[in-house]
Amino acid sequence: MSTYEIRLQRLMKDAIAELNKIDIYPSEAIAGIKENSRAKRRLGCCKKSVYRGKVKYEIEISTMLKEKNDRQIKEIIHHELLHTCKGCLNHGQKWKALAAKVNDIYGYCIKTTADIPDSAEKGVKQYRYEIRCNQCGNTGYRMKKSKVVMQPENYRCSKCGGQLTVKEKSFWN
Ligand SMILES: [Zn+2]
Ligand SMILES: [Zn+2]
Repeated sequence: MSTYEIRLQRLMKDAIAELNKIDIYPSEAIAGIKENSRAKRRLGCCKKSVYRGKVKYEIEISTMLKEKNDRQIKEIIHHELLHTCKGCLNHGQKWKALAAKVNDIYGYCIKTTADIPDSAEKGVKQYRYEIRCNQCGNTGYRMKKSKVVMQPENYRCSKCGGQLTVKEKSFWN
């Protein structure tokens, strides 16, 4: 286990205690918290699995947050912990209500989506929009809402002249 993972475990304990204090109870079935160095567009994720009727949650936090302070990392951990609460696997009404409560009481800024922090940008292919040719699959990436992102129908693939589709990525899961 890396020192970052040891830190993540400590912060998750903290975060759970903070939630319990305000009557929010993350699942008891959280198997652990791990670092994730592969995901480039996601700061955290919460995976739910069911094996032989037993539910298990696994939380992963991006190594892009390594340089951030405890509170900033905890904000992401809170986001994921709330996904383990009953009926909260999606960013639906229940999840949103809990996130609002935590934000209100503790002054966090837990959001459904987030920008990748500046310091994490170095060496990482950053984008918010993926522009893909329907015909040849040629793919481009944009961070900003440019003209082609807004109106892809007005543009064509530079390689084959095919029509383009734009997808917006979420940095969270
Ligand atoms: Zn094309
Ligand atoms: Zn989420």
